[in-house]
Amino acid sequence: MFQGALRSRPLVSATLAGALLLAACADGELDDAREDPGSVEDADEADPDDEPEADAEDGEPEEEDEAQAQVDPAEVGANELGEVPVLMYHRILPDGGSDYDLTPEEFRSELEYLYDNDYRPIRLDELIDGDIDVPAGTTPVVFTFDDSTREQFAYTEDGDIDPDTAVGILLEFAEEHEDFDAVGSFYVLGSLFGVSDDRGAEKLQHLHELGFELGNHTLTHERLDHLDADGVQRELAQGADNIRDAVLEAEVRTMSLPLGLWPDDRSLAAEGSHDGTAYEHEGILLVGSNPAPSPFDDEFDPLAIPRIRSLPPESYDPDDPEGLMTSGYWFDVFEQAPERRYVSDGDPGTISFPEEYEGELADEHADRANPY
Ligand SMILES: [Zn+2]
Repeated sequence: MFQGALRSRPLVSATLAGALLLAACADGELDDAREDPGSVEDADEADPDDEPEADAEDGEPEEEDEAQAQVDPAEVGANELGEVPVLMYHRILPDGGSDYDLTPEEFRSELEYLYDNDYRPIRLDELIDGDIDVPAGTTPVVFTFDDSTREQFAYTEDGDIDPDTAVGILLEFAEEHEDFDAVGSFYVLGSLFGVSDDRGAEKLQHLHELGFELGNHTLTHERLDHLDADGVQRELAQGADNIRDAVLEAEVRTMSLPLGLWPDDRSLAAEGSHDGTAYEHEGILLVGSNPAPSPFDDEFDPLAIPRIRSLPPESYDPDDPEGLMTSGYWFDVFEQAPERRYVSDGDPGTISFPEEYEGELADEHADRANPY
């Protein structure tokens, strides 16, 4: 079990957990997230017109063949139609913050769990492109960070990356663990990591250079369900512009809905313009609450990708429906039902899976299929 074996954090009492829940309501996000399971069920309603061209990588298999030929998909239990955890993080705080935040120790121990259990990080744009390059036998995991807060990325007085921020922890972990890359996707607001002047833009540029994806989380975090069509497009166009102003080559291909809430016209979350500035998102992140289907699964909708809220395993109680949304819950589910996991064949060009799952494969990926 995930809970006992791999975490050493002292148990949080039920009373304390309750207090954390109440504290989290202060920023309004928890209440919204509680409503969110609906948005997962609504996933089918999202506009599927913007299906990304995941076939663009077709040229790769030939190049990879030599190195990959010896991997037998059956031997590594490859299932590239399995599910992928997309984890949602907010702040990394010494006192643990609200129920959306983690302490540095909790984040490190989640990384340790993921590494030990053969998860390897990729970025969201790689997921939606179906460009998943992780070692044979491992499962991709996507780290997503919302709100561009100081606790995610800051410098020490000496100008080093603060080792207790999300970025600092990821970089250190990758340094210490072979075949684990410090990658993930940041969903950025107009307020850039707690600094207001040019240093915010410099931080964005630095994140981009480190290989992190920069995504849109609107300019001011307004609830998109409270805005008219013009307001929605203003928030998203200015949010994208803010990123591209700082990082000229940033593509801003994905976005995360503030509080997981859709605008009335959902198509405006994917595409629109304001004052001559256009935006186009090929991937849209929800707030809850289950793993994402494989990007090769017929049910994968890049414009409504569910996320799992990261929380230490002590925070989830099997009898509490709120608890069912957390990473601790889902890691246990995957331990008990490993056949649900996406497991890589080690070759980003082919899609390997046990042939009994063939019916789940989306037609557009049939040319890369490798059932066994
Ligand atoms: Zn947010």
